[in-house]
Amino acid sequence: MTVVTGEITVQSRGNCDAIDITAQIAKNVQESGVNSGIATLFITGSTAAITTIEYEPNLVTDFTNMWDRLVPEGIPYEHNKTWGDGNGHSHVRASMLGPSLVIPFVNKRLALGTWQQVVLVDFDNRSRSRKVLVQILGE
Ligand code: ZN
Repeated sequence: MTVVTGEITVQSRGNCDAIDITAQIAKNVQESGVNSGIATLFITGSTAAITTIEYEPNLVTDFTNMWDRLVPEGIPYEHNKTWGDGNGHSHVRASMLGPSLVIPFVNKRLALGTWQQVVLVDFDNRSRSRKVLVQILGE
């Protein structure tokens, strides 16, 4: 078995910015020298998350609007008393969605559906530079 650890960097605008990182992950897998296995993605930071979605603009809007209903920004959060950074909602949203994703790949191709893209969702209330660890295990 081989383990190849890489990293990608993504610039985000924050505020539920959902960024399609599928191509970058596929490139990591193709260049890893590993034929089949799993790619684990992990985002460093507590106000961003990773999931999959059909990356078309209306669905991305539906997804963003859902967070406004589920974890609204305009209500009191205790966290905002701790640092005064006003991003209590960002942390709660990120914890709900989760920081990691495992994607199997076969013959260097990610086992994603045609309408299934990998997205980084930045919930913070400002623009950020994000690092995603991409760890490839296989043979
Ligand atoms: Zn915070």
